Amino acid sequence: MDAAEFRRRGKEMVDYVADYLENIEQRPVYPDLEPGYLRSLIPTEAPLEPESYEEIMHDVERVIMPGITHWHSPNFFAYFPAASSYPAMLADMLCGAIGCIGFSWAASPACTELETVMLDWLGKMLHLPESFIAGTHGHGGGVIQGTASEATLISLLAARCKAIRRVLATDPKTSEADILSKLVAYTSEQAHSSVERAALIGAIMMRKVPTDEDYSVREEMLRKMVEEDKAAGLIPFYFCATLGTTPSCAFDRIMELGPLCNKENMWMHIDAAYAGSAFICPEFRPLLNGIEYADSFNFNPHKWLLVNFDCSAMWVKERTDIIGAFKMEPLYLKHENQESDHFISPLGRRFRSLKLWFVFRMYGLKGLQAHIRKQVALAKEFESLVRADKRFEICAEVVLGLVCFRLKGSNDLNQTLLKRITKSRELHLVPCQLSGRFVLRFAICARTTESRHIQQAWRHITQLAFELLQEQPH
Ligand code: PLP
Repeated sequence: MDAAEFRRRGKEMVDYVADYLENIEQRPVYPDLEPGYLRSLIPTEAPLEPESYEEIMHDVERVIMPGITHWHSPNFFAYFPAASSYPAMLADMLCGAIGCIGFSWAASPACTELETVMLDWLGKMLHLPESFIAGTHGHGGGVIQGTASEATLISLLAARCKAIRRVLATDPKTSEADILSKLVAYTSEQAHSSVERAALIGAIMMRKVPTDEDYSVREEMLRKMVEEDKAAGLIPFYFCATLGTTPSCAFDRIMELGPLCNKENMWMHIDAAYAGSAFICPEFRPLLNGIEYADSFNFNPHKWLLVNFDCSAMWVKERTDIIGAFKMEPLYLKHENQESDHFISPLGRRFRSLKLWFVFRMYGLKGLQAHIRKQVALAKEFESLVRADKRFEICAEVVLGLVCFRLKGSNDLNQTLLKRITKSRELHLVPCQLSGRFVLRFAICARTTESRHIQQAWRHITQLAFELLQEQPH
């Protein structure tokens, strides 16, 4: 493909993308296929001779589209949102064209510098304490990670390194292996599975803290476990709090947990993967109160801030905690402006901050706030519909864009309802478990979801529920 053909095909692709997104509602939101469907549709080997672009695009509709779960359909209400906007897609195109590998300042100064400045902009939108903002007198700053899982893992490994060094400084006769076997980390029983996985990767013992009736961790619950563990000779060193848990969007009480973590010399990481975007709205910002006690904080603009995957924003209060934990300096990475390098470097990094820059400038803070508010209002609308129907119940407080609900009745009944919803392919939801009960999660996801989709979804759910209840023995 030469530049002339690229110009032509590029324009066609933009049209294809716009058509896809404009007409996505007409496609079944969830595919109707069996695993392994794709293998039989394409050759077993890569082609020896070049094929035409037309053939490839024909196969996109024939092979790929039937196997897509359409995350950007206004009838998609599963998991949490995957952000998408045209400015972010255009920025991604430019990122592909520049194609730099931003592992150091020298490898592409704009890539390193824009990332730091964009994370400052974003941090200021969230009113993060100054200590987290790179362009101030503090020692902190932000970086873009691929996912919240990576941010959690990095914070855990940095905390592990810091704890080992601290113990060695006071007790030089002990060994690293001995300290490692005594380190203990904590997280909510409602935390995302990626937190537990980080502990597995980091070879760290992790204990799950029980939650209150709102599914939030409170200070006394963590304190009790920490005291027990210290009495047993263990070394508590890390707590991962969640703001906006995956099952029900619950909020750990960081205002009371923070001082405990600080007092016990435990690193507090805050995982706000989904909810973090909402903190740009002053009315939701109080949910982040207590951030001043945290050592690191992360949320995913790629979930709810109109920045396409992947873009996970992470801030630390002390850059040196991370630099100290992971520093490597082979000769081929040395250059004369090394102090301007990023403080986390999984070496190869894409120019992801372009997406933030385009989105922030084309929406403005006001546009982004309007997006969050609209989606929260849609969740409230759905909640009202559920509350008005006596056959259903709401299972957790609706704070942001997630509604947890169920039919009053057994878990089996609710499981069957969900199976029928999924089979209908008209809308897509996933379940969760709350207090041993099977619960349906209705998350407002697509940027284009409107009130009519909420009303339509509710009509569909109640129709299926009606049929199901009719079949039940009286
Ligand atoms: N933490 C929470 C609270 C989440 O809800 C999720 C995903 O939904 C994650 C972490 C994992 O996010 P990621 O896919 O960015 O690792």
